[in-house]
Amino acid sequence: MAKQRMLQFVNVERDMPEKRPPDLRAHDFNEIYAEYATAKAEEQAGRCSQCGVPYCQSHCPLHNNIPDWLRMTAEGRLQEAYELSQATNTFPEICGRICPQDRLCEGNCVIEQSGHGTVTIGAVEKYITDTAWENGWVKPAAPKHERAESVGIIGAGPGGLAAADMLRRQGVQVTVYDRYDRAGGLLTYGIPGFKLEKDVVMKRVDQLVQGGVTFKMNCNVGEDIAFSELQKTHDAILIATGVYKSRELPAPGVGAQGIVRAIDFLTASNRKSFGDAVPEFDSGELNAEGKRVVVIGGGDTAMDCLRTSIRQGATSVKCLYRRDKANMPGSQREVANAEEEGVEFVWLSAPKGFSGDSVEGVMVSKMRLGAPDASGRQSPEIIEGADYVEDADLVIMALGFEPEALPTLWGVPELEVTRWGTVKANFETHATSLPGVYACGDIQRGASLVVWAIRDGREAAEAIMDQINAAAQVAAE
Ligand code: FAD
Ligand code: SF4
Ligand code: SF4
Repeated sequence: MAKQRMLQFVNVERDMPEKRPPDLRAHDFNEIYAEYATAKAEEQAGRCSQCGVPYCQSHCPLHNNIPDWLRMTAEGRLQEAYELSQATNTFPEICGRICPQDRLCEGNCVIEQSGHGTVTIGAVEKYITDTAWENGWVKPAAPKHERAESVGIIGAGPGGLAAADMLRRQGVQVTVYDRYDRAGGLLTYGIPGFKLEKDVVMKRVDQLVQGGVTFKMNCNVGEDIAFSELQKTHDAILIATGVYKSRELPAPGVGAQGIVRAIDFLTASNRKSFGDAVPEFDSGELNAEGKRVVVIGGGDTAMDCLRTSIRQGATSVKCLYRRDKANMPGSQREVANAEEEGVEFVWLSAPKGFSGDSVEGVMVSKMRLGAPDASGRQSPEIIEGADYVEDADLVIMALGFEPEALPTLWGVPELEVTRWGTVKANFETHATSLPGVYACGDIQRGASLVVWAIRDGREAAEAIMDQINAAAQVAAE
């Protein structure tokens, strides 16, 4: 009888790939998790109980066929596992690295619910696709026939790139416009290398180029080229510009030197890792070395600033967050990583002002959690008389992002936006209020996740293909 490879969760414990020790990893920007050895990946995949109704799959935004690719991995059928995994996910090795799995697939694994520890879905997904790259199974687009229709994509982040890949594979002429010099969006300049090494992203970009996608970099739509020009050039346009306007804190002293935006700090650090000249880093303005750093915020961006500061050689790194650990938006896995690396979390603390022309301290109000608000979350309330000062030489504001006012910036008032300023678009077709114009990713849903941007980009590409095919049919009649 064939050996039973699955349902091993009773005998085999959950085991993540090895994590580099904090004292080693805190000095560089390389990823912190090693790759599984083949036998380990097969063993861990074999823990899956092959649920008839897989909650992991329904809680993956891409509805990846997780149980089937886990079984194939456990059986050593890696190429088939890769083919199945890439059928629903354009960048599985990226999601395997940076999805907050504890809130998505793994957090809903039934084995986790029954107390055995979740199947390590993300780590196996990364292993499958990294192996596919090593073996040359990941192929650039090679459409059977070229089509005359063209699509302009504004924004080379995961949403735009996922759409570019799908459209190009169907022979469409695709041009991606981006205001940065390198493609990848936040994958390249936001997320630090210790979560996602940059060659992983650049390999994908290179492959899109090999497959015939044209990139127009250093091209800020609305400044270097008008939106109306793109409308004339292309049969359809996809807006995938992300959200970049940092939320501000209206507090006394906030304009002091040494108080910086998270996105500026992280972009400078990522550019430095690419070997670029970064004067604001070299001058010390965006460099945490030798400083007492305070990061304000409790989301993924705050976690990345904290851990980047540690790696830059800060003397102390503290996180101020107005709620407690259980109520923070950032991934618990990232909080644990940050704590291991030496970050101190100061829970239930909110900034009320800053002292010094060049920042010297943050005036902090202590908070307690009160009654739940409309969203069901407990609202933080100030504890009177408990204020104190937290010393700081560098304060990094990580309070979230809002969309830029695209209709004004681009001179297209007919482009409808929501009351939050995100582009209003259908959540299945991604069609906006302008004919032939679609939107995806953060600019449609607000600051979100890479995996959602990929899903949106793929769905938008499908809808654009429907539009193109319908027009071609009309022309042929
Ligand atoms: P983006 O990735 O923002 O890309 C948009 C692109 O559009 C950019 O390249 C920009 O230059 C370009 N652009 C904008 N305006 C114009 C214009 N006018 N003309 C031309 N080009 C333009 N998500 C996760 O899933 N896991 C994580 O661990 C994670 N960590 C994060 C850490 C940080 C610091 C941040 C800020 C976000 C993180 N996210 C994470 C969220 C994730 O990065 C985003 O949800 C995702 O990148 C959104 O993809 P997008 O394609 O919509 O936009
Ligand atoms: Fe889990 Fe993200 Fe992979 Fe889906 S894409 S299976 S949520 S790691
Ligand atoms: Fe396997 Fe867990 Fe998904 Fe069930 S929920 S199919 S055990 S990974």
